[in-house]
Amino acid sequence: MEIRCDFDSGNIQVLDASDPQDVRLALRPDLNSPHFQWFHFCADGLTPGQRYTFDLTNAGHSSYTGGWPGYRALASYDQRDWFRVDSSYDGQSLRFSLDAEQPRAWFAYFEPYSRERHAALVRQAIEQAGAELVATGRSIEGRDIPLLRIRRNPQATRKLWLIAQQHPGEHMAEWFMEGLIERLQQKDAELDYLLQHAELYLVPNMNPDGAFRGHLRTNAAGTDLNRAWASPSAETSPEVLFVQAHMRQQGVDLFLDIHGDEEIPYVFAAGCEGNPGYSERQAYLEAEFRKRLEERGEFQSLHGYPRSAPGKANMTLACNHVGETYQCLALTLEMPFKDHDLAPDARTGWSGARAKRLAGAVLSTLSSLVEELR
Ligand code: ZN
Repeated sequence: MEIRCDFDSGNIQVLDASDPQDVRLALRPDLNSPHFQWFHFCADGLTPGQRYTFDLTNAGHSSYTGGWPGYRALASYDQRDWFRVDSSYDGQSLRFSLDAEQPRAWFAYFEPYSRERHAALVRQAIEQAGAELVATGRSIEGRDIPLLRIRRNPQATRKLWLIAQQHPGEHMAEWFMEGLIERLQQKDAELDYLLQHAELYLVPNMNPDGAFRGHLRTNAAGTDLNRAWASPSAETSPEVLFVQAHMRQQGVDLFLDIHGDEEIPYVFAAGCEGNPGYSERQAYLEAEFRKRLEERGEFQSLHGYPRSAPGKANMTLACNHVGETYQCLALTLEMPFKDHDLAPDARTGWSGARAKRLAGAVLSTLSSLVEELR
C-alpha cells in the first residue's frame, strides 16, 4: 500500500504503513503555526475485501480535541461520492477503518473543495449566474482571490457581503458558496425580489494558500485570518486587507462569514452581541434572521458558542469588526464537521450537498429581510 498527500489540500505524515490493521499516521501542522486537525490523503494498492485501519496518532494533540468524540472520517473511491466510515477516539488517536472495495481510496476530514472546482465555480458564476469579477486579490503565495458581484438592478441600494473559508480546513464553506451560486443561476420570485433590492458581494475562498496546503486554520504566514480584522497587514494578512478595501468602497448592509465548527454537531450562528456599539436594531435583525432561517433550513439557535457579554467582543473577528464598522447585521455561520444532529444522516454526516442546500435557504431568508437591513 502506498499513501500519498502530494496534491491539493493533502495532509498526512506516514509513520508506519507496514500493518494494514494499524496504519500509523500523523497530522501535519499548518506552515508557521502549531494548528493541525485537517487531513486528506490517498491510499493506493489496497486489496479489495481486506479491512484497513488507519490511526491518526497525534489527534489527541490537535487544535480542537473536542472535535474527535462522535466524529467519523470520510472516505471516497472516486473523490465525488464521500461516505463516513467507522471511527473511534480514545483521547490519543483517532482510528478509522475501511473494508476496501477498490484498490484506491481517499480519506479526508471533510469532503474537500478543490482549487480546480473553485476555478470552475468562478467561471460558472460569471457565465451562468451573471456575476461580475469586481477585483482579484492576491494571497501571500500569489493565488487569486476573486471578489464577485451579482447586480441585477443598478438602483439596488443594499450591499450584502458573504465570504467563505477564512479558515482553510473548513471546506464546507466553499460548498456553501457553490450552493449560493447555483441558486443564483435560477429564476424565482424570492431571488428576483432579493436582487431588486440588493447587490451581492461574494468571496468564495478567502484563504487559497491555506486550503491548497492542507492547513486547518491559517494562511501561508501562519496567520489566522479571522483574528486579523482589527489590524491586517500586507505581510501577514493581505487577504483581509483586500476585502476590507472593497468593503470601504462599496459599503456593507449585511455580512455573513461562512465557517465550519469541529466540535458542535449542529448548524448555528454567532453574532456580534458583544460589540460596544451593538444596537437594538442589530439585535432585532439577528433574531429575525435566526427565526426565518430556522423555518427554512437546517439551522438552530439552541446549541452554539456562549454569547459574549456586552462590550466584551473580540474585535479581531471579521463578524464583530464588520458589524461594528458598518452597524449592520453581521453573523458567523457555522456548519458542523460531524453532523447536524437535528437531522442526522448516517451515510454522509454533514456534507457538501447539505451545505449547498443551506445556502439556498439563506438566500430565501435574506430575500424576506432585505428591505429591513438598513
Ligand atoms: Zn472557522
